[in-house]
Amino acid sequence: MGTLSLQGEGWGEGHALSRIAYVNGRYVPHRAACVHVEDRGYQFSDGVYEVCEVRAGRLVDERRHMDRLERSLKELRIAMPMPRNALGVVLRETVARNRVRDGILYLQITRGVARRDHAFPPPGTAPSIVVTAKGYDLDRLEQGAADGIAVISVPENRWPRVDIKSVSLLPNVLAKQAARDAGAKEAWFVDAAGRVTEGSSTNAWIVTRDGKLVTRQTDHAILRGITRTVLLDLLKDQGLRLEERPFSVEEAYAAREAFVTSASQIVMPVVQIDGRPVGNGAPGLLASALRRDFHKYAESA
Ligand code: PLP
Repeated sequence: MGTLSLQGEGWGEGHALSRIAYVNGRYVPHRAACVHVEDRGYQFSDGVYEVCEVRAGRLVDERRHMDRLERSLKELRIAMPMPRNALGVVLRETVARNRVRDGILYLQITRGVARRDHAFPPPGTAPSIVVTAKGYDLDRLEQGAADGIAVISVPENRWPRVDIKSVSLLPNVLAKQAARDAGAKEAWFVDAAGRVTEGSSTNAWIVTRDGKLVTRQTDHAILRGITRTVLLDLLKDQGLRLEERPFSVEEAYAAREAFVTSASQIVMPVVQIDGRPVGNGAPGLLASALRRDFHKYAESA
């Protein structure tokens, strides 16, 4: 058997050996965690997911993540596999069993296992549910934020309902790999009108030369990021100037600052776009301050 240590990837050393996954009602060793070959998530990407930050052993913004999960399921007409409070117990138990202090929780629900047929399976087919959790090295993440990241722009080629957090992520996978190949960490999708929609796994923001924060409005063209929503509360509270509107790649090149947000990256400064430095090429003051203050506004239970 190969080594299961995730050392070198920023995840807790040796931790993988004792990881536990929740799969359809059972807590099983991570290395033995399996779903059926006819699971519709596997065959059709017919499912949804959530990624939730874990901080000091607690789930961050669980309520908002559960609200978004229920919305995604409803849009795809997949039943919630168990009542919300029971699901909350499973999520917390998975965090506890994996002894995660700082890290992320992953939850996936699919339309279940059925004989392969594109149309929905017979009524009563149980949705499949998988929950995993893994710790990360907070110091390393903070170091990454102190350096900032490079992004590249790529043409938007996703379906027009990316507001649904579906596991169907092939364009995102290809975009992220294009970023890696270019020595960058994230790819920003740019629509036919030349405007940035969002990152392959993050929402995109800029700070204009005159100090306004700009991020695209939530419609069907972006995912309504929970980190984005929490940040909006923070901005309102601090009286910062915000414009929810699309911005072009050219506007981003000329911006004073840029950053991305997600549950796993929180607020991550962008220091380069398509090889051009953003501002003075160092993480922006505003992005760094928002990152520092984020958890004062996030809910933790
Ligand atoms: N946009 C996309 C495409 C994502 O995949 C994600 C997170 O995975 C986000 C935005 C950020 O969402 P959140 O802040 O809820 O993590």
